[in-house]
Amino acid sequence: MSDGQNYQTFGGFPWTPLYVEAIDKDKCFGCGRCVKLCVQKCLGLESFEDDEGTERHTAIIVNKDQCIGCQSCGSICVRKAYTFKAKSA
Ligand code: SF4
Ligand code: SF4
Repeated sequence: MSDGQNYQTFGGFPWTPLYVEAIDKDKCFGCGRCVKLCVQKCLGLESFEDDEGTERHTAIIVNKDQCIGCQSCGSICVRKAYTFKAKSA
């Protein structure tokens, strides 16, 4: 049993939002799929130079306050870079 907030789906089934908590920079390869997917515009891409001086990108959380806890970003990530967390009531 989760100690997070409990809501319902349209059909009345229990739904506990799991909000975006972190993106593992070591796993992310900057494809940007999660950024495009998030309808709440919570995510962005940040560029950085790797050890060889090559420009790379990584997904970052830019607007966590708008997150609805759908976990879609984590579902589309082939690198499993996301972690999520329920919000304490
Ligand atoms: S889907 Fe995964 S690998 Fe692609 S940018 Fe997002 S976190 Fe990075
Ligand atoms: S959990 Fe949903 S709303 Fe939150 S960042 Fe991911 S895709 Fe966006």
